[in-house]
Amino acid sequence: MNMITNHMPTAELQALDAAHHMHPFTDGAELAAKGVRIITKASGVTLTDSEGYEILDAMAGLWCVNIGYGRDELSDVAARQMKQLPYYNTFFQTSHVPAIALSARLAELAPGDLNHVFYAGSGSEANDTNMRLVRHYWAAKGKPDKKVIISRHNAYHGSTMAGASLGGMTPMHEQGGLPIPDVVHIGQPHWYAEGGDMSPEEFGLLRARELEAKIAELGEDKVAAFIAEPVQGAGGVVIPPSTYWPEIQRICDAHEILLIADEVICGFGRTGNWFGSQTFGIRPDIMTIAKGLSSGYVPIGGSIVCDEVANVVANAGDFNHGYTYSGHPVAAAVALENLRILEEEKIVDHVNDVAGPYLAEKWGQLADHPLVGEAKSVGLMATIALTPDKSSRANFASEAGMIGLRCRERCFANQLVMRHVGDRMIIAPPLVIKPAEIDTLVERAARSLDETYASIKSDGLL
Ligand code: PMP
Repeated sequence: MNMITNHMPTAELQALDAAHHMHPFTDGAELAAKGVRIITKASGVTLTDSEGYEILDAMAGLWCVNIGYGRDELSDVAARQMKQLPYYNTFFQTSHVPAIALSARLAELAPGDLNHVFYAGSGSEANDTNMRLVRHYWAAKGKPDKKVIISRHNAYHGSTMAGASLGGMTPMHEQGGLPIPDVVHIGQPHWYAEGGDMSPEEFGLLRARELEAKIAELGEDKVAAFIAEPVQGAGGVVIPPSTYWPEIQRICDAHEILLIADEVICGFGRTGNWFGSQTFGIRPDIMTIAKGLSSGYVPIGGSIVCDEVANVVANAGDFNHGYTYSGHPVAAAVALENLRILEEEKIVDHVNDVAGPYLAEKWGQLADHPLVGEAKSVGLMATIALTPDKSSRANFASEAGMIGLRCRERCFANQLVMRHVGDRMIIAPPLVIKPAEIDTLVERAARSLDETYASIKSDGLL
């Protein structure tokens, strides 16, 4: 076979991709017919595709490239670490400097007494760890029946069996008979979609109190933990009403259950603090981390665990769990360098003080568009809801997600990566985005909305 390189014609690369590459969350036949988009390089907030188009990546890859593309410091560190020690495991009473250094740094950064890190290769794996860890913890405390994990509808916690079960995505549950036993779901704090005539504050309390009702229904002696994203990401950037998290925290404090904050998206600056838990006043016992930990440059995830849980587990014999790549030295070294850049370049402050407020102002103006029912943001994650009727927050009569899909197509045509979740449009750009780039982002989003509006009007869908 000829060498396959960036210089091959796009059509040939697309044909090879269609023949041999199975894509995640994709209709394979549809993609093969259409031809995949091929990204060849990236710098800062900008991607370049195989046709030479430059595209503003308002999703930071998959919410992960927090420090932006093209930071040679990370590739230099990876090369140095590969030469020094490309691999060694952390099983069998062994460690290495990158895993030690990263753990100590994460313990410094994480709030409260979250001082212990168990590594995984991804966010999904880390949530698998969490599920086993909390059950093992309660069993070690003489409460083996405390096994149920309470999660929420429309949550996303990964794609493994445990991750997808913890998640509340119906299309994922429908494939393969999920959720696995002892995972249950309560309602989400999605006021715009489900709040009806209630105020957001009333609705936030109502949804939080479903947790207390579920604990009572199951029995506190059966419930191990509650897991939630501070802001649901893949669910559509669902920013909870202000009353929600304080009430959840009160309920977790009042009952003997663990609180797991899934910080895979919210962690490492996304909401304007190091962790979303700090933005929303959450005091978790365990945090799931991945994505922004390495800015996506290498795969790494993990669980940051509080003193109590770590100490009990440490004194309960072997924890029979771990991954070949737990604490991988190259991944750990790259993550540490990424954290250095985030800190030394004050990137989290940039989100909180500059880029977040600027995006809030500009993005908020999209609420005036005739197609937009709400435009909200926190830090550098933002959402707009598309609607045929602003006053009633109505859904389109057409199949759910069709208008969002159209809008996403217009965004691509306008050189903007914006994702759609049903008929919501969402963004989470690299945290290093500058105000002038936010101007470009919002201008392209507005143009795409105009074009979507015109096309659905002319097709009689409004
Ligand atoms: N948790 C959350 C909140 C996520 O957003 C994701 C990924 N989008 C995951 C877990 C799973 O992470 P990964 O894809 O690295 O397995």
